[in-house]
Amino acid sequence: MSVEKQRTIKKTVSYQGIALHTGFRAKLTLRPADENHGIVFRRIDLPGKPTVRACGNKVTEVMRGTTIEDGDAVVNTVEHVLAALVSQGVDNVMIDMDRPEPPIADGSSLPFIELIEEAGTVEQEAEREYFVVDKPYYLEMDHAIINVVPDDKFRISCTVKYDQSQLDTQFLSMEVTADSFKKDLSEARTFCMYFELEYLMKAGLARGGSLDNANVIHGSTILSKDGLRYPDEIVRHKMLDIVGDFCLLGKPMKGHIIAVKPGHPSNVTMVQKLLKDQKEA
Ligand SMILES: [Zn+2]
Repeated sequence: MSVEKQRTIKKTVSYQGIALHTGFRAKLTLRPADENHGIVFRRIDLPGKPTVRACGNKVTEVMRGTTIEDGDAVVNTVEHVLAALVSQGVDNVMIDMDRPEPPIADGSSLPFIELIEEAGTVEQEAEREYFVVDKPYYLEMDHAIINVVPDDKFRISCTVKYDQSQLDTQFLSMEVTADSFKKDLSEARTFCMYFELEYLMKAGLARGGSLDNANVIHGSTILSKDGLRYPDEIVRHKMLDIVGDFCLLGKPMKGHIIAVKPGHPSNVTMVQKLLKDQKEA
């Protein structure tokens, strides 16, 4: 097997839009970075332009999205842009942000995939390292179950069921590659339950939320703009979130994630468990 090399993007590219929770207009800029730089966010709106590495040990909040923080550098809702980067094989990139949250775009990862395609990617000299899962892991948390088992590919099997809705159980299992992510997961939009809307508004969250960037589940129906993009868009978005959260391992993963009703709390707890185990090994 040929040795895989690290990759970065060929040129600087930017994307602007409304951020989901804060409602600000935000600009995100991807810049090429050196070998072994990793994926790093930089808050260019703050004095000293502080940075925070996309790493599970930097996570400080997981309620409606994943927030990472290092000193003054706080970045919310990192998962959709991270899913696009890791799935497309970008190992090294500097992500400049002029706000604490990236644009939500259409609630999926597709606009970020298109941004990476616009930049193009280029191979570097250093060898790519993988996070290789070498034994089974099990986690049960709230209503979620996440198992991670060894596999020579990166696979996700995911089941979702919402007790508060009449929607059928959704299940999907696939190997995640650059192509399969783009085709089968990247367009799945974020969603929320109708009854959560009041809570979200009162909590000052989802200020930028609308049917332009989210689906809303109400009983047995899904309110969405222009219909669903996949019949099982919910489970696909959950898998997209898993790809983004597991990017916080700091390296692309080889292993099989088997998740039942996953969310950011369980995803991130599993990532932290894997990181801790690897450090101790
Ligand atoms: Zn999401």
